Amino acid sequence: MADYEVIIGLEFHIQLLTNSKLFSSARNGYENRPNTNVDDIDIALPGTLPVINSKAVEFAIKLGLALNCKFNTTSIFSRKHYFYPDLPKGYQITQHDLPICEYGNLNFPTKNGIKAVEIERIHIEEDSGKSLHMDDINCSYCDYNRAGIPLLEVVTRPDLRSAEEAMDVYKALRTLVIHLDICDGNMQEGSIRADANVSIRKHDEKIFGIRTEIKNINSVKFLGQAINHEFHRQILKVESGQRINRETRLWDSHNKISKPLRDKETILDYRYFPDPDLPPLIISESRIRMVHNLIQELPIQKQIRYQEEFQLTANEASILISNKVITLYFEQTLKLYKNAKNIANWIINEMQLSPMITIFQLAQLIRLIDDKIVTTKIARYIYEKLLNNQAVMPIEIVADEKLEIQHDCEILQEIIKKIIINNPTEVQKYKSGKTRVFEFLMGQVIKNTRGVADPNMAKTILKEYLDQI
Ligand code: ADP
Ligand code: MG
Repeated sequence: MADYEVIIGLEFHIQLLTNSKLFSSARNGYENRPNTNVDDIDIALPGTLPVINSKAVEFAIKLGLALNCKFNTTSIFSRKHYFYPDLPKGYQITQHDLPICEYGNLNFPTKNGIKAVEIERIHIEEDSGKSLHMDDINCSYCDYNRAGIPLLEVVTRPDLRSAEEAMDVYKALRTLVIHLDICDGNMQEGSIRADANVSIRKHDEKIFGIRTEIKNINSVKFLGQAINHEFHRQILKVESGQRINRETRLWDSHNKISKPLRDKETILDYRYFPDPDLPPLIISESRIRMVHNLIQELPIQKQIRYQEEFQLTANEASILISNKVITLYFEQTLKLYKNAKNIANWIINEMQLSPMITIFQLAQLIRLIDDKIVTTKIARYIYEKLLNNQAVMPIEIVADEKLEIQHDCEILQEIIKKIIINNPTEVQKYKSGKTRVFEFLMGQVIKNTRGVADPNMAKTILKEYLDQI
């Protein structure tokens, strides 16, 4: 295995968050009852003509800009022919020879820092319907709600050299389209589907091997598994003297194997030609500039800024960025109180990324910890009380329940004296060298002070007393 390296190029299909479909006014959404979001065009009734959705074009420009692409100011829609019941026209409208964008790159975070992959092209195309095969009653259903939903296809160069890199690219692209507001990023529902092209070669070889294409993957984990599986399968084949077939395969995530679907190209001839119903798509420089003004700080820029400016780890930064609601929540809280590290820690670890208190409550809660007014433990207690209660602020709970850290040395001394008197056996154990009992006695202190004792002060006093005995 060590003799070979894996070569990977990815193709992504990104479902766009437009209101209507790519060429019809039917609603874009296939979660409804089957065949309810369907217009005449989507089921290919004769005499209907497609009209391009301008929002989809805007989204393509947005992504093209974010991926540093070169724009073809004139691009062409083509018909890609194949016959399947979920494609009633008998062809899919896509872009072939002249796509809207070419030659870009995507910077993506990895555990070894930021890397880049080249983008070959981005093109606009329509999605197909969905077939539902009921094997037990020997029949298939078609749902055309998805037919005609706008997609952007993003194709990378074969630049990737490990399953991890491919997974990182998938994650980064998802984060990017979420931040650009062009896709909901919902992978389980197929909002970003990936095809992995995989080949192998020996480390000293110059040219790539024959590749296979694993289609329609909709999770980062499955992408990694499918690539690693395919890498091993190809090595075994080559090592046993066989040739790799240029074929399309499907990943069976349940059994963790890939299965051949069809031979590529040799069998399928898509008979591409420009769609005579659609004029060339012309985009002006001024339109590109207008879209450019809509783009805010990109996730990769945030990633770098969070790490450099706030000293967050790469992992913390990417967790905060991978969900747009969380990103906003983090940045808004930070405007109120400038301790990015602690805010990040609370959002990620204490709140488990589901913000159920307001930014004002969180900012104040963290300030209370930082100012040593409450312990972290008490802060967690306050947090529970704040859940779904926007009307009260942390400081009010502190005052009502007297939760401030007890800095008064004399009160603490009294309490600790009593604890020592009331626990003679434990004290004896401690004196005979079983120092683990110290934790128990500290626990008693915390209990007797309702957790508000200054932990360092309490420790010092307890130790002092025990040593005096
Ligand atoms: P097609 O039109 O058949 O889909 P392309 O040349 O457009 O073929 O390539 C599709 C994808 O395959 C791209 O993502 C590209 O990076 C990738 N690719 C091309 N050659 C190889 C190879 N030898 N190994 C792995 N991936 C490859
Ligand atoms: Mg392809």
